[in-house]
Amino acid sequence: MNKELKFAQNLIDFIYDSPTAFHAVGKVKEDLCKANFLEIKEEEKWNIKKGGKYFVTKNDSALIAFVVGKGETAENGFKIIAAHTDSPSFRIKPKPEIVVDNIYVRLNTEVYGGPILNTWMDRPLAVAGRVTLRGENILYPETRLVNIKKPIMIIPNLAIHMNKEINTGIELNKQKDTLPLLSMVNEELEKNNYLISAIAKELSVDLKQIIDFDLFLYEYEKGSIIGLNNEFISSSRLDDLAMVHAGIRALCKAPAVEATNVMVCFDNEEVGSATKQGADSNMLLNILERITISLDKNREDFLRAISKSFIISADNAHALHPNSPEKNDPTNKPYMNKGPVIKISANQSYTTDSNSDAVYELVCEKAGVPVQKFVNRSDARGGSTIGPISSTHLNIRSVDMGSPTLAMHSIRELGGVMDHFYVTKSFEEFYKI
Ligand SMILES: [Zn+2]
Repeated sequence: MNKELKFAQNLIDFIYDSPTAFHAVGKVKEDLCKANFLEIKEEEKWNIKKGGKYFVTKNDSALIAFVVGKGETAENGFKIIAAHTDSPSFRIKPKPEIVVDNIYVRLNTEVYGGPILNTWMDRPLAVAGRVTLRGENILYPETRLVNIKKPIMIIPNLAIHMNKEINTGIELNKQKDTLPLLSMVNEELEKNNYLISAIAKELSVDLKQIIDFDLFLYEYEKGSIIGLNNEFISSSRLDDLAMVHAGIRALCKAPAVEATNVMVCFDNEEVGSATKQGADSNMLLNILERITISLDKNREDFLRAISKSFIISADNAHALHPNSPEKNDPTNKPYMNKGPVIKISANQSYTTDSNSDAVYELVCEKAGVPVQKFVNRSDARGGSTIGPISSTHLNIRSVDMGSPTLAMHSIRELGGVMDHFYVTKSFEEFYKI
C-alpha cells in the first residue's frame, strides 16, 4: 500500500471512530495527547510557554489546539487552520418512542443540518452522542459519550409498488417518512424506555441517572476506498472531518516556528454556527487573546498580533460531477485528485481575495501541491462556510479552501485519495512558515 492510500485509510479509520462531533473531539484529544500536547481548561489560570503545545475544548464538541510560537506574538501573529466537527444527521428527540399498531417501535427524530434525505433510506444505522447524568453539583452535571456500535435502526423505503413516483422524484416528509424503525414491541421491555434502557446498559448506569442526551443517528457501515485503481474515498462525514483530520495531523507534525500555529475545530457549522462552540462566537477570539495575555503581553500586542495573522478556512468543495458537468462554472472546474480547491465568491460567501488566494497558492507551490479554483455558476447560489462567519469576529486575512468532493451532504460522500494527501501537505507547509 503506498503512503497516499495508507493516509486515506487512516482518515477512514478516524471518521469511523468519530460518529458525532463529540466523538471527533474525543478522538482528536487522544491523538493530540499522543503527540505530547497538554490539555488546558478555560476555567484555569494559564501559564503557557513559548514552544509549548496545548489544546482546549468547548462543550465536548469543539477544540482549539496550538503550538506557541518562539517569536514575539505581536510581531509574528497566529497562523490558523479552521474546520468543523459536525455533519448533517438526525438528532433523537426527547420521549422518542413512537409505537405503530402496538407492534413496531419507531424513533422520533429531528433533522440536523441539510442531509440528502433519500441517501439515509434502507441503511443500517447506529446511534451515538453525549448523555448527561445526575452529578454531585446541579450546575455541573456529569457527561458521558456513548456509541452503540450496532446496526440497531433503519429507515425503510416505501416499496415501488406503493409509490409509483419513487424514481421520478418524491418529497420525503421529515416528520413522517424519515423516522427510523428500532424494534418490535416486546412485553419484557418497558414500553417507553427502549432507547434509554439500551443507553443505560451501554454505559452501565442506572436508568434514573440519565437526565438528558444529545444523540444522533449515523451510518453503521465503515467507509471504504473505491475505484479500479483505488482512487476514491467513499465515507460518511468527509465534510468536514477530512479537514479536521488533515489539520490535526499537520499540527502534530508542526515545528515551533516564530508565529503561533493554531488548529480550530468548530461545531455547529451545519446549522449556522451561532452557538458558543460555533464559528459565530467569540470562542476563537477569546482563546487567542488569552494566549497573548498568558505570555505577559497586553491588548495592544494582541491586536497587533491579529493584524499579522492568517486563517485557512478549510471546508470541502464541489468537484465537477461526471453526470452533471454543466452544474459547474464554465471556466473554473475542479476535479477530484487534482489538488485542493480555493473557493472564491464576488458576494463574499467565501472570504478569499486576491491577497489571501496568493498566500495559499504560494504555500501549495512550495509544498509541490497542485491547486484548483471553485467559483459558483453566476446563475446559482452556492453554500457558505466558517470563513466568512469567523471573519465577522476576527478581522484576519482569510482564504476559503477544501478538498474537491462529490455528493456533499449525502450519507456517503466521495473524495480523492490524492487530494487528502495534498491538502495535508499544504497544511504542513503553512505551519512551517
Ligand atoms: Zn462543511
